[in-house]
Amino acid sequence: MKPKYKRVLLKLSGESLAGVSKHGIDFETVTSYCEPIKKLVEDGVQVGIVVGGGNFWRGRSSGKMDRTRADHMGMLATAINALGVADALESIGVDVRVQTAISMRQVAEPYIRNRAIRHLEKGRVVIFGCGTGNPFFSTDTAAALRAAEIEAEIILKATLVDGVYDKDPNLYKDAVRYDCLSFQEVLEKDLKVMDSTAAAICRENSIDLMVFSILDPSNIYESVCDTNIGTLVTNRK
Ligand code: UDP
Repeated sequence: MKPKYKRVLLKLSGESLAGVSKHGIDFETVTSYCEPIKKLVEDGVQVGIVVGGGNFWRGRSSGKMDRTRADHMGMLATAINALGVADALESIGVDVRVQTAISMRQVAEPYIRNRAIRHLEKGRVVIFGCGTGNPFFSTDTAAALRAAEIEAEIILKATLVDGVYDKDPNLYKDAVRYDCLSFQEVLEKDLKVMDSTAAAICRENSIDLMVFSILDPSNIYESVCDTNIGTLVTNRK
């Protein structure tokens, strides 16, 4: 099987980095994602990664805190994850750069779009930390924004479910998985694929989205080759 896309943006939620403990970073789990990413790079696919932060902190779940400050904490959590994923990739010989939307020059490059593209063209994986750099946004929105900026053809949204269903498959046995959806349908049916800001950015910029299960890490590679392993959301439908 050969990759169908040249430049992709992988979205890894914080939860997906935590393994069974559901909190913090489980390096065995993270390392299991790195081999398929390495294989993609070796096959000439340019890979950007946006990491979430929910394994450490979510601004909207912070109770009585000031929301902006809580979101700042969430964005810093994504930076921790970005460094963790970078380390795991480097340990298997993948060339990586971390760029953050909030400057922290001692630990990572600042996000500079053209520089990110140069890294990608040189076969380096670029990990984007700190989301969009703004409170009240999510890392899904950051994934859509960065994908638009670097002109990625598709966002690979790795989740714990193998696609998008008409109702919650954990609650309903008769839930049906969609093979293909349009962003219009996602927004109209209020399907919980990504938040509406992120879905709107994808729709307006014709960026495809593939939702697939990361429980089998080889799906990271497969999702670039075979659109049948999950649900494809596209304007072409
Ligand atoms: N966040 C933010 N702006 C952004 C992206 C993230 O303020 O552009 C904060 C927000 O508090 C969020 C947290 O970072 O709850 C972690 O991101 P997210 O919840 O999207 O992570 P995931 O659910 O993917 O692990």
